[in-house]
Amino acid sequence: MRSTPHAETFPAHSPAAAQVFTTVLSHGPLTRLDAGRRAGLSPAAVTKAVRPLLAAGYLVEGAGSGEAAGLGEGADEAARPALGRPAALVRVNGERALFIGVKATGDELIAVLTDLCCRVRLARRAPLPDRTPGPALAAIAGLVHELRAHAAESDAPVAGLGIAVSGDVDRAEGVVRYSPFLDWRDVPLAELASAACGLPVTVDNDVRALTVAEQWFGAGAGLSDFAVVTVGAGIGCGLVVHGRVVAGAHGVAGEIGHLVVDPAGPVCHCGNRGCVEAIAGDAAIVARIREVTGRHVTDSAAAVALAHQGLTGAREVYARAGEAIGRGIATVANLLGPERVIISGEGLAAYDLFAEQIREAFATAAFGSAARCDVQTRPLPFEEWARGAAAAAIQTFITQHPSSGKG
Ligand SMILES: [Zn+2]
Repeated sequence: MRSTPHAETFPAHSPAAAQVFTTVLSHGPLTRLDAGRRAGLSPAAVTKAVRPLLAAGYLVEGAGSGEAAGLGEGADEAARPALGRPAALVRVNGERALFIGVKATGDELIAVLTDLCCRVRLARRAPLPDRTPGPALAAIAGLVHELRAHAAESDAPVAGLGIAVSGDVDRAEGVVRYSPFLDWRDVPLAELASAACGLPVTVDNDVRALTVAEQWFGAGAGLSDFAVVTVGAGIGCGLVVHGRVVAGAHGVAGEIGHLVVDPAGPVCHCGNRGCVEAIAGDAAIVARIREVTGRHVTDSAAAVALAHQGLTGAREVYARAGEAIGRGIATVANLLGPERVIISGEGLAAYDLFAEQIREAFATAAFGSAARCDVQTRPLPFEEWARGAAAAAIQTFITQHPSSGKG
């Protein structure tokens, strides 16, 4: 049985309530009329959705400006009072609840404490010397404890914990099926972390969690179709199609890192040859530079430095990596036709070394109008990924069914 303590529960569990709340969260403050328009709901549906949220203090409504009341620039000043009071604006009460987000890399934990608006109040990092599930869980619990101690200074309850890890993560079941960098298989992380931390836990793929934050507050805000491609230790991709973050039927979607771009290429840790990640992942680049230059290169910082020095062979390794990433992005564009692709990840430190090849390979492989997709880069520190984990926890909080977790 899954243990999901419910210290705090959201008072409205209809899809409409979650939709209105998310709309106000990412676009607010809004008038009820605007919120309904953006969420595609009737005024009556909005009224029904916001009533319990206002009553429980998750939303607050206050006086707005004349403009918000629908009085455009051309409105006659004298006519305003006659039209009654200005339309009130609805906004999320960030102080109402707090959340914790944790992003785990292969050797570090990054955690943030956020309010209900997903604004970061505090960020902490801790090394992860032992990545086996037991010690890693103890390290996560230690960080969560530290952030909760800080949260205790305010009246707001900590209502959820989000944990983001790379790899194949089944969010619905709360299980990490396979995480290559942590070397985890079938770890019931939500259940274990919930027992260790005493909070409801949402576990998600790290890039997908980052994509939620980008959709709500970042470069994906207002777009119905976009992708986040992350380069670094792994090559990941978060997809938003028709306004929804795609997880796929089995929790695996957007595995751009394992698109095969060179069937005769190097062997990937997944067992195939020539995956994007086997050519453009940090470890692949470091190994290849070691091979072609004969230098003792141990990490990507050293690899980037050698390429910047113009060492023969090193630049070509990055060029090849850029080509692989560009082809991968073109495949995403050809399949889904996103309006924008946001490239991020710690691998952006080497971006000048492969930017040209990414753009060239993308332009060559993108079919027709798919090439019109806006490819942009956006450096996001790991705290933003942790914030994504908190966003995933907020998402669970506002959409969970009251009966779930009580059985
Ligand atoms: Zn692979």
